[in-house]
Amino acid sequence: MTDRFDIVVVGAGVIGIATAYHLQKNNPEKSILLVDSLPEAGQANTAMSAAAVRNMFSSTTNQLLTDSSIDFFRHIQDDLKFDLTMHMCGYLWLLSTGQFKEPSVKMWMQRMEKSDIAYKVYEQEELQKIIPGMTTKFSEGDEEAQLMNLKEIDYALFGPECGVLDPDLLVKFYKQEFLKLSKVKPRFSLPVTNLLLEAKPSLGLPGEPYVWQDKQVTGVRTSNGDIHAETIVLAAGPWTNTLLDPVGISSYVKAKKRQLFIIPASGHPLLEQLLFTKGFSKTGFLPFTILPSAGVYMRGVPEEKSFWIGCGDKVGRAYKYAMEEQDYKAERSYFEESMYPVLSKYFPAFQNVRPVNSFAGSYCYSFDALPYVYKQAGVIVVTGASGSGIMKADAMARIADALYRGEKEAELFGGQRMPTNTLSVADRQVEVERVII
Ligand SMILES: Cc1cc2nc3c(=O)[nH]c(=O)nc-3n(C[C@H](O)[C@H](O)[C@H](O)COP(=O)(O)OP(=O)(O)OC[C@H]3O[C@@H](n4cnc5c(N)ncnc54)[C@H](O)[C@@H]3O)c2cc1C
Repeated sequence: MTDRFDIVVVGAGVIGIATAYHLQKNNPEKSILLVDSLPEAGQANTAMSAAAVRNMFSSTTNQLLTDSSIDFFRHIQDDLKFDLTMHMCGYLWLLSTGQFKEPSVKMWMQRMEKSDIAYKVYEQEELQKIIPGMTTKFSEGDEEAQLMNLKEIDYALFGPECGVLDPDLLVKFYKQEFLKLSKVKPRFSLPVTNLLLEAKPSLGLPGEPYVWQDKQVTGVRTSNGDIHAETIVLAAGPWTNTLLDPVGISSYVKAKKRQLFIIPASGHPLLEQLLFTKGFSKTGFLPFTILPSAGVYMRGVPEEKSFWIGCGDKVGRAYKYAMEEQDYKAERSYFEESMYPVLSKYFPAFQNVRPVNSFAGSYCYSFDALPYVYKQAGVIVVTGASGSGIMKADAMARIADALYRGEKEAELFGGQRMPTNTLSVADRQVEVERVII
């Protein structure tokens, strides 16, 4: 077993595996080893995702990252005939008048228009006709609605070029394509404990590297010995800090727990009717829908005849330094006490129906909700997708590959170009993202 490669990619989540694929495709002569601490690719946060994809962002950079990635996913499914169970059911943001008129929402719409991102505004009357059983207005005497600060639904922004897919299948696609090109077998169940930092060049003296020497990460330490490489790609999601901090490189990310609860629609005629809401897209089922209050959202899963219910809670949920094992347990009380009361108020069809399953993972936030792709001391860091890493994975991977090749610009799927320093720390050129869930 050789322990020297041109590139070692640490992390086989959707971002690591997409990066490994693009690197191998564009650098066929290079040996690339993919390493993950779990037994298979895509088993950490990628597997816990709601896997919705949208190009409806407020930052032009996020629009481009997602728009081009979504186009690539459609290409995989439609042209390469690799089924991702991708459905373009759309995204539906339900809004009160106050929210709709907020300057940040106006700016969001203007930026989408400028970038040619399609969207449509719906008004209350039309929404009521299309969506069965949705409460748009609460009566004046509704104390529960008042207590929970529930906003009325007066408008909606609908994005037709958005949808949902199966993240496991997306990971399978990238893995299959990577394995076709690579001569190196990935190593799973192999945690990386440290990055190896060495003097460049080494004088062979004890105690190196000294402060006056140039330093470079030259490999990784694992429970099975050291592995050396010219370049390390770090795609470790919310564990990035634990590997970068000991060598003094900051990754600027924080983790936050997110959970999903699965509610069956079958056997509940009103929920089935809601799931198969017609009128928004050709798919004939409800778009990925975000309620105007408390960050509660729902994804219809027609194959399972169920809904996945999530919540983008903000203040109150702790930021974590790195993901811990208990973060993977969903909290039933969180659904019961926080999400259910809101959900069942807007959609009474959910009343008295309870989750049959649940799962949890973590978002890996950057400070401006845009990803990081940068190179420092021999490490290419690809992280900080801020809760939308499935939908940005392909573009992030192409940027990481262009950075590796020393290109000034990366070509994204569809031909649009992005400077490779756009998502760096030192020369970051992005608008802060306002539309996060
Ligand atoms: C509830 C929930 C809902 C979400 N919904 C959406 C959504 O609708 N759309 C969307 O686009 N995104 C969504 N996301 C976010 C999305 O899942 C992530 O952005 C994406 O999976 C990030 O991919 P990744 O490869 O960076 O991370 P991960 O999938 O976490 O992969 C990181 C990998 O690194 C490995 N690793 C870490 N440390 C080490 C080490 N020391 N040694 C070896 N291996 C290591 C891990 O085992 C893991 O496999 C959601 C996330 C959650 C939790």
